[in-house]
Amino acid sequence: MILFDFEYLRPETIEEAVTLLGQQAEAKLLAGGTDLLPNMRIEVVRPSHLVSLAGVAPDAPEEMPDGSLRIDALSRLSSLENDELVERRAPMLGAAAHSVGGNQVRQMGTLGGNLCQETRCLYYNQQHDYQFVADCYKRGGECCYPFPGNDDETCWSVFCSDLAPALIALDAEVEILGADGQRRQALEDLYSGDGMRPLTLGPAEIVTAIVVPPAPAGSGWGFHKTTLRGGLEFGMVVMAVALRLEDDGQTCAEARIVLGAIGEGPLRPRAAEAALQGAILDIETITRAADEASDEINPLPHHGYTKRYLRDNVRVYLRRSLERALERAHGA
Ligand SMILES: Cc1cc2nc3c(=O)[nH]c(=O)nc-3n(C[C@H](O)[C@H](O)[C@H](O)COP(=O)(O)OP(=O)(O)OC[C@H]3O[C@@H](n4cnc5c(N)ncnc54)[C@H](O)[C@@H]3O)c2cc1C
Ligand code: SF4
Repeated sequence: MILFDFEYLRPETIEEAVTLLGQQAEAKLLAGGTDLLPNMRIEVVRPSHLVSLAGVAPDAPEEMPDGSLRIDALSRLSSLENDELVERRAPMLGAAAHSVGGNQVRQMGTLGGNLCQETRCLYYNQQHDYQFVADCYKRGGECCYPFPGNDDETCWSVFCSDLAPALIALDAEVEILGADGQRRQALEDLYSGDGMRPLTLGPAEIVTAIVVPPAPAGSGWGFHKTTLRGGLEFGMVVMAVALRLEDDGQTCAEARIVLGAIGEGPLRPRAAEAALQGAILDIETITRAADEASDEINPLPHHGYTKRYLRDNVRVYLRRSLERALERAHGA
């Protein structure tokens, strides 16, 4: 892999990394590098400095006094899919981590890098010099190849993180460290929904941890990722569902549905969620909600999948994911 020249910096603390990022306008943070380095290779990004987190060791996942689970953003995906505490307290996160790429990617890739990965587009993720000559809008050029009607502020590249839908469904929060100190916000708010600038993070801000609240009694989850080849692949559609039942074991107290890989950020079909809330959960209600979500969302066609195909995928697999979540809420 031949790369352009850049400076490599290896701070020993996260605080030092924040300072270094703030000192260089063209610096990029490097965690596992499984997303950033391929993007540097095709020169989608050309940082002048890489601020590597290789010298900072992650803390182990920890149960907090309020019952929430705190997970270091530097945790490798392979450590999450095999962690006993994560399996017991947030099994959907382990399932989502297991679905990422292949074992080599999961051994290197981190939780923070997964949540902050670049959006993807068949045209963007190419070595431009042999595919075509002109750069697209997102690369600073003057056209959009798949969507020629878009203007220079509109990019419909898709956000393919597998962990973001799962963690948003679990209502996770994210801890962020910047020059002004630490803040905590809903993970959902990390995403702008803008393909040009998909994250709301400042240039010298680092995601340091994820906090997952405790799951109340009567909770259940469902996770599904469709890929073309079944493995070693970014999602065609990713879906994560978290249901909570009332004490009667039938009425839905809360439903959170998050769809990934079909928008510039994770999507929530709010009308479908609202239709479930307060309803008796049976196969008819669940089927109606999945149909409603499929009609409500407007999936971006991407990587060869048509809008209609993606809608059908959501209709079928969301129903199955909701059914599985209901089974789990009943203890199955
Ligand atoms: C073959 C292959 C298959 C893949 N398959 C999948 C897949 O199925 N699903 C999927 O979700 N991903 C997939 N990926 C993408 C990527 O490997 C994973 O998302 C991985 O978790 C990224 O983590 P990383 O630590 O390697 O990120 P890096 O490459 O180090 O960083 C990615 C981006 O996030 C930023 N960043 C990293 N850490 C932080 C932080 N703590 N705070 C703020 N910004 C940060 C970096 O600056 C960079 O812009 C795949 C990659 C490859 C090469
Ligand atoms: S959708 Fe975005 S990344 Fe893809 S070609 Fe258009 S501007 Fe470029």
